[in-house]
Amino acid sequence: MKQTDILIIGAGPAGMAAAIEAARAGATITVLDENTNSGGQIFRQFHDSFQVLQAKNLGPDYARGQSLINKFNVHSNSITCMYDAQVWGIFEDREVACFQGQESFSIRFKKLIITAGAYDRPVPFPGWTLPGVFTAGGAQRLVKNQRVLPGKKILLAGTGPLQLALASQISKARGQVAAIAEAGNVENWAKLIRAMVGQWELIGDACRYLFNVQKSRIPILRRHIILEARGDGRVEEAILAEVDRQWRPKPGTEKTFKVDTICSGYGFIPSAEMTLLAGCAHTYDPQLGGWIPVRTPEMRTSRIDIYAAGDCTGVAGSKVAMAEGRIAGAFAAAALGCLSDTEAERRTRECRQNLVSLNRLRAVLDGISAPKPGLYELADAQTILCRCMEITLQDLKAFMREYSGDINEVKRMTSIGMGPCQGRICGQVIQEIVAREKGLPSDAIRFLSPRPPIKNIPLAALANHS
Ligand SMILES: Cc1cc2nc3c(=O)[nH]c(=O)nc-3n(C[C@H](O)[C@H](O)[C@H](O)COP(=O)(O)OP(=O)(O)OC[C@H]3O[C@@H](n4cnc5c(N)ncnc54)[C@H](O)[C@@H]3O)c2cc1C
Repeated sequence: MKQTDILIIGAGPAGMAAAIEAARAGATITVLDENTNSGGQIFRQFHDSFQVLQAKNLGPDYARGQSLINKFNVHSNSITCMYDAQVWGIFEDREVACFQGQESFSIRFKKLIITAGAYDRPVPFPGWTLPGVFTAGGAQRLVKNQRVLPGKKILLAGTGPLQLALASQISKARGQVAAIAEAGNVENWAKLIRAMVGQWELIGDACRYLFNVQKSRIPILRRHIILEARGDGRVEEAILAEVDRQWRPKPGTEKTFKVDTICSGYGFIPSAEMTLLAGCAHTYDPQLGGWIPVRTPEMRTSRIDIYAAGDCTGVAGSKVAMAEGRIAGAFAAAALGCLSDTEAERRTRECRQNLVSLNRLRAVLDGISAPKPGLYELADAQTILCRCMEITLQDLKAFMREYSGDINEVKRMTSIGMGPCQGRICGQVIQEIVAREKGLPSDAIRFLSPRPPIKNIPLAALANHS
């Protein structure tokens, strides 16, 4: 079995920052990522078949990403990178199972740093399975990395800064954005501005996006939510409505937009399946996106050998991810004896200070954009909740009447969460709906227990696992 001192899952901002810091301390590191190269969600690199001729046209994210990737590559002597490598299980005896190049194999670690990122929060509403409905992150990936527009006339419905970023990227790519429906609303501008003071780079990004949105004359409908996507075989129109503070539609405020594409972007869910699988303690924090691992200030989870950093511990953006990654990398290396705790503390002091101000801003933004109850009440009886197993809201309610309604019993009886997505699409929605049906708070309902393989791998590879 392959062995490594520090194993890092994910080569996004958090994973790369952790690797750089651990390498500086003299540790030997292996980084696994299912992508074909480093960068993660925000600094994702282009496929080899693309050539970047004018880097400045790709915006500041590209330049920031290149700067981090270059620092990461400097340490190639002590960092072994394995790309196209999908982690599908974490087992006892510090073993991580991975699938790469048609082979499945295990790697044994001394310390593990999980930086698996986050994914779009899927929101079921009538018509959400029609062709032409995208998640905002999926659409962004098409525009940013493939230079392809998701449709001709596009409506963005969701909440948070990604909406502005996406609208700006689509209009720069000469796409037509019909409108942005923003479910949240800034109630206290003074509080937001105070929280942003000092975060000049973020302020610059926000101004740039807003400027592009204004220049393209894209209307922003505040306190509006998507009610339904309609069309014969694909999206032809979107129905929006004004919402109250709980994001419940106000009757009589419906508006129809003739569009062929809807991008639904109601925030992100941390990829906690690996920390859950590893048996780390978790807590449910709706502000941070859902189930997140409990951590010490050193980014160590409840397991002494496992650290976690970045969006998989609560969605907070690339700056937080990098700061947390550096802390995790330094303290994992210290735990192996590569440097003292005091030295790890000294090297990461600046990250800690930065996190205080970033977390202040994050709390204000979360207050505006964290999902409100109305979001989980959009589905009607016939709306599919589990896309893999085609289970509707009506089916779920019928099962809950027949059985106890424990979420994992629902999973066993209906196969919800057992399809190719392994609960990533339906898990949180089911949890919220089960909680409502039982009249309990969301955190009183357990998560859908993840089981290996958490990602799809061929049976033949599993049979020959080494
Ligand atoms: C869809 C989406 C769009 C976003 N758009 C913006 C934006 O426009 N502007 C902005 O400022 N921020 C954006 N963000 C936020 C920003 O991308 C993140 O905050 C930042 O990338 C977090 O860094 P990270 O290292 O924690 O995670 P990521 O950058 O997500 O990196 C996680 C890495 O883990 C790897 N991974 C996950 N699971 C496995 C597995 N099983 N096996 C192997 N590898 C695995 C992934 O391939 C990925 O490379 C977006 C986030 C998402 C999810």
